[in-house]
Amino acid sequence: MHVAIVGGGIVGVSTAEWLRRQSAEVTLIDRGVADQAASFGNGGVLARCAIVPVSVPGLLAQAPAMLLNPNKPLFLRWSYLPRMLPWLASFHAAGKASRVREIAAGLMPLLSDTVEQHQALAEGTPAERWIVPGDYLYVYPDRAAFDRDAFGWALRREHGITGDEMDAEALRAFDPAIGPGAGFAYRMTDHGRITNPGAYVADLTAWFEGQGGKRIIADVNSVEPDDTGVRVLYQGGEVRADRVAICGGAWSKTLVEPLGHKVKLESERGYHMVFENPSNQPPAPYMVADGKFVATPMEDGLRIAGIVEFGGLKQPPGKAPIALLERGIQRLYPGFTSSSKRAWMGHRPSTADSLPVLGGSKTHQRVFFGFGHHHIGLTSGPKSGRLLADLILGGRPNIDVDPYRIERFG
Ligand SMILES: Cc1cc2nc3c(=O)[nH]c(=O)nc-3n(C[C@H](O)[C@H](O)[C@H](O)COP(=O)(O)OP(=O)(O)OC[C@H]3O[C@@H](n4cnc5c(N)ncnc54)[C@H](O)[C@@H]3O)c2cc1C
Repeated sequence: MHVAIVGGGIVGVSTAEWLRRQSAEVTLIDRGVADQAASFGNGGVLARCAIVPVSVPGLLAQAPAMLLNPNKPLFLRWSYLPRMLPWLASFHAAGKASRVREIAAGLMPLLSDTVEQHQALAEGTPAERWIVPGDYLYVYPDRAAFDRDAFGWALRREHGITGDEMDAEALRAFDPAIGPGAGFAYRMTDHGRITNPGAYVADLTAWFEGQGGKRIIADVNSVEPDDTGVRVLYQGGEVRADRVAICGGAWSKTLVEPLGHKVKLESERGYHMVFENPSNQPPAPYMVADGKFVATPMEDGLRIAGIVEFGGLKQPPGKAPIALLERGIQRLYPGFTSSSKRAWMGHRPSTADSLPVLGGSKTHQRVFFGFGHHHIGLTSGPKSGRLLADLILGGRPNIDVDPYRIERFG
């Protein structure tokens, strides 16, 4: 079987490599601008605890105040608001407590064994050097702030995700340089990090190619299934395959909608800063809860990543989100310095209900999807790719894939 994969981020390359290992002929087509992909610039955290959906009860009510406060990590390009109203309506509906429970149950199988899934994908390849199993800490200003997140922690506990509480003294013993704004933490084991996400995906891609996978650098314009196969048309050529998987991250909608499928997908723009030779490094990745950013020790320095900005795929990065991240690192480590710093903006592929789209189309037997992994795509990419490869080859996975069907959007 010949399978074409559109999109070479972590989801696409994982799908391609798992298919190749099962003797499929695979062509991976990507624009080839690696640092545009979310998989390049993410926070690097393998967050098996990240089962709490983005939309939770009460979130939208807080949004107007957050948007008006330049110290809160939510930004909106106001001219874009009308375009995203349908997505926002579905996002709001997904935030009902009963629906949140269903979504968390749907995310759990994609996240629970993340480190093992990364190890299985990367074992024996140059990419395995970037995987570091370890702890993950949520850092709060104080105990009261932790208590205000009780809904999410209860949900995690229901799924067996627990950790240890650290008061200010324990936290300071763990990380003596941490600032006075951090007075409580929740520390979980069984997590991990990728210490260079861009190099990790590049190594996996090079391995895939070196083992016989085919790679084309091109912009795919359309996917056209017929009775005997599927044509994947790109600028300057086409590939004919038996099956296609659309793994185009936040850009997937333009390929999916002409096939007659609706999908509620938006770019949740996020930012990172990398500080080389930082004066401080956390011993493990932190989620700095009041700033909603992660601080992750990386191979090339300290990376802080976070912010949610709505503004679509085309507008240039803003300055305010970067300034906010810089203030955040100064709060975490007062007097923080580095030899250099660089900023990046990318697009989280976010469905309105925080569940990815994974699996085949009911109308087009040859078309499959693997996108919509919002804040959790690095964590769940290898598992999603393995699952998708199985589905493409006609397997029956032992987890319920109904929550991920594209048809849920109507
Ligand atoms: C600031 C930030 C921090 C994050 N932190 C974390 C984290 O700590 N942990 C975590 O698990 N997740 C994190 N994420 C989320 C994670 O990065 C994404 O969910 C994940 O990378 C999505 O992978 P993907 O393969 O679906 O999409 P992408 O990585 O965006 O890849 C899609 C690829 O498809 C290509 N493409 C699209 N359309 C076409 C086309 N028509 N023709 C050719 N090529 C096409 C694109 O160019 C791109 O290369 C973060 C994201 C951001 C932005």
